[in-house]
Amino acid sequence: MGQYSLPDMPYDYAALEPAITGEILELHHAKHHAAYVKGANDTLEQLAEARDKAQFGGLVGLEKTFAFHLSGHVLHTQFWQNLSPDGGDRPDGELADAITEHFGSFEAFQKQLTAATVGVQGSGWGVLAWEPLGRRLIVEQVYDHHGNVGMNTTPLLVFDAWEHAYYLQYRNVRPDYVTKLWDLINWNDVISRYTAAKGV
Ligand code: FE
Repeated sequence: MGQYSLPDMPYDYAALEPAITGEILELHHAKHHAAYVKGANDTLEQLAEARDKAQFGGLVGLEKTFAFHLSGHVLHTQFWQNLSPDGGDRPDGELADAITEHFGSFEAFQKQLTAATVGVQGSGWGVLAWEPLGRRLIVEQVYDHHGNVGMNTTPLLVFDAWEHAYYLQYRNVRPDYVTKLWDLINWNDVISRYTAAKGV
């Protein structure tokens, strides 16, 4: 009863070299991302079994496990699309204006998202998100895949700060990896997510 499936990569594993090696990208997609997909599906099955038996003694653990794997699947699916071999530079148009409005300048936003990503304690993500209640852009520092997140925020640009994303290439120097990510951003993808999240 597979509810979720591993999406194909939008480019070859080696397409982001030299910033990210093909070895890292293949492991990241075919092993790590795939494990989150399997984890989400397996946990859904266990939840269905618990319902069938009306035995909810393990529900707390199952809900935590499901949130972890589902969020991992969501974030990695987006991460591949947020990056591109032809990425980099800066956004223009409404997103550029909104970044200036909510962060003061592109440079200030860049520094905050970089600091959020580099400064994750343990495993997590740096995220640019749309917050619909205040109708503003915010930076979130996400722990694991789902902690420290404002309810109802929509991720627009996600930077994976887990060691599996860079350690084979950058060792302990996470800041160098994050610097390279800025040259890979597919701003067209970020802009379309911003437009969809903001609505009218
Ligand atoms: Fe990852």
